[in-house]
Amino acid sequence: MSRVENHSERLLVTGGAGFIGSNFIRYYLDTHPGAKITNLDALTYAGNKTSLTDVEQRHKGRYKFIKGNIGNQELVDQIFEEDHPSVVVNFAAESHNSRGVANPGIFVESNVVGTQRLLDVSREHDIRRFHHISTCEVYGDLALDSEDKFKEGDPYRPRTPYNSSKASADMIVRAYSETFGVPTTISICSNNYGPYQFPEKLIPNFITKGLEGEQLPLYESSKNKREWLHVIDHCRAIDLVLRSGREGETYNIGSGIEVDVESIAAIILEALNLEASRKTYVSDRPGHDRRYLLDSSKIRSELGWKPQVVFDRGIHDTIQWYKDNKGWWEPLLQKLGIDEMNWGKKGQLEVKQGIGSQTDHDVIMDLYHPQRVTS
Ligand code: NAD
Repeated sequence: MSRVENHSERLLVTGGAGFIGSNFIRYYLDTHPGAKITNLDALTYAGNKTSLTDVEQRHKGRYKFIKGNIGNQELVDQIFEEDHPSVVVNFAAESHNSRGVANPGIFVESNVVGTQRLLDVSREHDIRRFHHISTCEVYGDLALDSEDKFKEGDPYRPRTPYNSSKASADMIVRAYSETFGVPTTISICSNNYGPYQFPEKLIPNFITKGLEGEQLPLYESSKNKREWLHVIDHCRAIDLVLRSGREGETYNIGSGIEVDVESIAAIILEALNLEASRKTYVSDRPGHDRRYLLDSSKIRSELGWKPQVVFDRGIHDTIQWYKDNKGWWEPLLQKLGIDEMNWGKKGQLEVKQGIGSQTDHDVIMDLYHPQRVTS
């Protein structure tokens, strides 16, 4: 029996104050009595400690937060020396495509260099697993009418700064597995939705704009679609890969449920009792991918995973969560940063590069220096 199976392992989770990381920490501590988690997060605009207030209260002594950058090797080394995690789960990343268009450098810094530096420290310690969270977007996009699905091992064809930074990180993880024998796994997941997602992402963006009386901005290519997976199904899949996934392997995780942007807007408007006139069509951001669809037969047949949340139920529960938790998302609106209404306008990119992005970059660079705030 592995140490994870006996529920007593300590994990180092990075980026655990973000959307998927916070859901994973809650799921993991709730389902693995005795397990302990150290959450290392830089608290960028996307990181939010309040997403885990309930976890801090319910799992006292089993959950520890450390503010810091995954690229700060001195800090990561200290965490290994003090907490002795045997599993690292790397969620930490800049994750919003639109921000990557405005400020690509920080994506390379956190997603590529950060991952490599985290791997460098991890390989000096006795770990059972380094699990890296990747995205379907590394494969590039598919035509809307294509019969293809992306399989593990297909070539990577990223098209945006975000996608290419994630693809590069995957390559580095594989290199550390092959060259240094680090016991890695990678999971490549489709688009997630659910509670605690920052309101810049499509579904919470539409819900919060609907609730705030604003227009919903749909890219002109509104027939572009995504494969939607409830975040809890993603967490279950990661848990399975940690327990039973084979070292050095990559696992695709997808629901097979594709829904286009137009239909997402319609579902949200109907659930909020709003008119179709609340939609506004805006220019696509540069590099807007049409579609991704994963073949996830490997994790289904090898590890017995399958999604449990039906999309119709999951999306309505998510809409209800945002209705019930205005106190969580309302303070975040001031951190939105990107004006999706204005991609086509001349000068928009230059304006975005001058605003906000430098501050984000400074936050990340400052955190390279040894510094920690624990709670
Ligand atoms: P998110 O933006 O909500 O959270 C990212 C977290 O990482 C934040 O808490 C942020 O503070 C932290 N962070 C960023 N840079 C850091 C650094 N250098 N050091 C330490 N912490 C840092 O993102 P998310 O949606 O939760 O995504 C988590 C991971 O899952 C990412 O790697 C993303 O690429 C991947 N992913 C996301 C989706 C999706 O639909 N959201 C789908 C597939 C894969």
